[in-house]
Amino acid sequence: MKAADFEYVRVTSLAQAFEQLAQRGESAQILAGGQSLMPMLNLRLATPGCLIDIGGLPGLRDIRHDGAMLHVGALVTHRQLQESALVSRLVPLLAQAVPHVAHLAIRNAGTLGGSLALADPAAEYPAVALALGATLVVQGAQGVRRIAAGDFFQGLYQTARLPHEILVGVEFPVIAPGGRAHFSELARRRGDFAMVGLAAQFQFSDGIIAQARLAYLAVADRPVLAAGAMAALQGRAPDDEAVRAARVALAGDLDPPGDLQCDPATKRHLAGVLLARAIEQMRQSA
Ligand SMILES: Cc1cc2nc3c(=O)[nH]c(=O)nc-3n(C[C@H](O)[C@H](O)[C@H](O)COP(=O)(O)OP(=O)(O)OC[C@H]3O[C@@H](n4cnc5c(N)ncnc54)[C@H](O)[C@@H]3O)c2cc1C
Repeated sequence: MKAADFEYVRVTSLAQAFEQLAQRGESAQILAGGQSLMPMLNLRLATPGCLIDIGGLPGLRDIRHDGAMLHVGALVTHRQLQESALVSRLVPLLAQAVPHVAHLAIRNAGTLGGSLALADPAAEYPAVALALGATLVVQGAQGVRRIAAGDFFQGLYQTARLPHEILVGVEFPVIAPGGRAHFSELARRRGDFAMVGLAAQFQFSDGIIAQARLAYLAVADRPVLAAGAMAALQGRAPDDEAVRAARVALAGDLDPPGDLQCDPATKRHLAGVLLARAIEQMRQSA
């Protein structure tokens, strides 16, 4: 199948993008790397009247360190993230997630902003943003809004971004001394969307878990913080007892629906397996 007819506008400034969005209203859709949108157009799952291509906008491809934050522009590609020394040093959880996103060809063109704006519940970056308490920065003609990741993802492909706004960047808190990151997922084949995934960051103090942030992907209509398991791990050493306590608590955190890949019981089981692996990795690297 081929895409239905649409107009195409390549904008060269944010002001021009906002003008186009205002003029064309609901019929317009933003195009970034096209790695999700182009297949959706070809399958006619999306039929916008006009594509507003923001791929050439200046200033949205930067990765900048500023005190406790790493600012990453929305048009930074998966490939750029993978190759960035700043990302691997300052936001290792994000760096660990990138190789799990699709395949090399897609990572060359797809963008951080495109993945977050799409809000696929099985995508890696929404869970990373939630685990880290990142802030998503959206901009419209009226100005800038900064939205906590916990408020940004609102359901299946639903976000707090308004139709006339563009996601311009993300602020990721830089990892603190004593912090350790762990990203893992289970997929049927490498590059496929995950059956279940876990973005975790631990804060250690004298060998004890002072804080655990655990965000799961592919277990609901949006990324989910495992609040019970996080509380169960606080103040414990990463040992077998911690694994047991966290897995018991996790049972109350997740209520996954089945999907084309696996049933709810399998997802629950795999979520516990990933949690045990994360704690085991923390023990080994202690
Ligand atoms: C075979 C295959 C496998 C894949 N596997 C994975 C995977 O494992 N994990 C994963 O996360 N993704 C996967 N994807 C999806 C894809 O890699 C990402 O979702 C994609 O890179 C998104 O970025 P993009 O720049 O290509 O967005 P686009 O396709 O250009 O846009 C995606 C959506 O976001 C909107 N949008 C884009 N940028 C912005 C912005 N700055 N502000 C507001 N709205 C915006 C668009 O309007 C559109 O609705 C896969 C895709 C394919 C084809």
